[in-house]
Amino acid sequence: MLNSDQISLPVITPRLSKSKFLAGLQCHKRVYFEVHHPDWASPPDPSTQAMLDMGTEIGERARGRFPGGVLIGETYRQREAALAHTASVLSDATVPAIFEGAFLYDGVLVRVDILERVRGIEGEPLAWRLIEVKSSSRVKTVHLDDLAIQWYVLQGAGLNITAACLMHLNTQYVYRGDGLDLDSLFSVQDATDLVVAKGLDISSRLLPMQQAVLQTEPPPVEPGAHCHTPYECPYWAHCTREKPARWIYHLPGPLRGLTELVQQGVTTIDDIPSGVKLSVVQRRVKDNVEWISPKLKEALATVRYPVHHLDFETIMPGIPCYPDTKPYEPIPVQWSNHIEDEPGRWRHQDFLHNEASDPREALTAQLLESLGTEGSICVYSPYEQSILERLAERYPSIRPEVKRVICRLWDLFPVIRDHYYHPAFGGSYSIKAVLPAVVPSLDYGDLAIQEGGVAAQEYYRMVFKETDWVTRDSIRIALLEYCKRDTLAMVELRRGLGEKAG
Ligand code: SF4
Repeated sequence: MLNSDQISLPVITPRLSKSKFLAGLQCHKRVYFEVHHPDWASPPDPSTQAMLDMGTEIGERARGRFPGGVLIGETYRQREAALAHTASVLSDATVPAIFEGAFLYDGVLVRVDILERVRGIEGEPLAWRLIEVKSSSRVKTVHLDDLAIQWYVLQGAGLNITAACLMHLNTQYVYRGDGLDLDSLFSVQDATDLVVAKGLDISSRLLPMQQAVLQTEPPPVEPGAHCHTPYECPYWAHCTREKPARWIYHLPGPLRGLTELVQQGVTTIDDIPSGVKLSVVQRRVKDNVEWISPKLKEALATVRYPVHHLDFETIMPGIPCYPDTKPYEPIPVQWSNHIEDEPGRWRHQDFLHNEASDPREALTAQLLESLGTEGSICVYSPYEQSILERLAERYPSIRPEVKRVICRLWDLFPVIRDHYYHPAFGGSYSIKAVLPAVVPSLDYGDLAIQEGGVAAQEYYRMVFKETDWVTRDSIRIALLEYCKRDTLAMVELRRGLGEKAG
């Protein structure tokens, strides 16, 4: 087998896509895998997949701002057809904008979200404005690299590009319920100067990437901090499969001097010298023993009966769909309440809005009834409070009642964080990590929905997309079971911790 020294410089230019170029900016090994072993990538987690799906929907909506635009509908696999279709539309002076246009230059193929035909200053030939649509609510540095490679390819392909812009959601836009105002929903920011500056060294960054993918072996890049920025690399599991379970990069949170420690030969969490400053959580992970604070019992005893255990499930539509909401505003669609009237005796109530109308009014009314006026309301994070505050803001007539509910909230999360640790937490205090460690007989493994991101996705599918009532009903049941487990988890966590506190 040849090694990298025996490979001569390329005589052909490997074809990369825009996304592969961006992968290569993170790591040459990653772009090598993208070309040769895409099947080694971990599939996107449900939250990432939901963001990708939402990005697609937002991209399609954004096109509505350019009436008369033509979509190059050929898929990414139909490259030659897409290039030919784009070329034919480019020469049609009646087309005001092209969506998903395909362009190739220097071995890089890009599909451009929106290319708007604009006139140059008087007497100049027609020119184009490059627009990249992002589902984010603001411009990020990584977006400039995205635009810069497109700028490089378009200029190289002979187009006269006068501006490079990012189009993203305006989170201050309020949907009034009577049709989307696309001009207000989207913000367009001109990033031409920054993109031109970034574009100056594209070819010097592209060439070593193209050489890397021509090798017979991946570049010898060690996984490290760069694998998580600007995105989580999907090859992390593959690259770290032979690392020890207590590998130093598995330490949660940032650690000052990590690179230097690795250079000094520190490979595991156990090897970290005692003088290194660690956060409280990192210290617990390093100690790797069960720890019970002497004040755990006292902290648990501050709860008042009847104890309600409350959890919301929410959706955060990028394109607002309920009146008086903004992009990405969390909308509660479901709640569960386990009510423990006295230690060990509980009952359950819940609510799920299973149609496309605004869920908030009915949800709030039934929630207030379920929570009554007495006892603590156990939650697991400040999230429930933030949702209640939004509801209080939305419905002035019941604001005092909602505010009284907020005053009764009792957060189990800081009680555990400050008073208990188990090695099985692995440095995470999420309820999914904490529950099986404290209550081994209970977890989420038997549920059809096991994660909040999936719950949001499935809710969206149930009320907005799915037409088959049998499927809708199975989603409804799975959602109810999932939310119920979250509040049962709090009941059992309080009980399990009580036992540990003696
Ligand atoms: S996990 Fe890290 S080292 Fe491996 S391909 Fe991704 S970025 Fe490169």
